[in-house]
Amino acid sequence: MIDQRLLNIMLEYGDITVDDFEWAVCGRCRGEGTLGGYPGVYTQEDFAEDPDLFEDYMDHRRTCEDCGGRTTIKQLKAEVEAREDIRDAIRDWYETEAIYASERRMGA
Ligand SMILES: [Zn+2]
Repeated sequence: MIDQRLLNIMLEYGDITVDDFEWAVCGRCRGEGTLGGYPGVYTQEDFAEDPDLFEDYMDHRRTCEDCGGRTTIKQLKAEVEAREDIRDAIRDWYETEAIYASERRMGA
């Protein structure tokens, strides 16, 4: 899946048009729009200490990060995704994102 933020930016700048993508059922939440749990907040040890916590954890639903609760995501049509300018834009985006992520890890 291509980052939805990137698709929105490409749309905004006119690199792609609404005809260049199609809507697909979100693979992350399988079209439910929500996901269980709070990722990364608790560890197995926390659950071992407090079984109720685990139950609450499993019951908790959060908005799916990928589709933002819409249950569907934008997906580039295969022929559009194969375009060289689009592939460059996607590669640049993920390279930049990787730099931001490592800067965050270093506390920048
Ligand atoms: Zn989703």
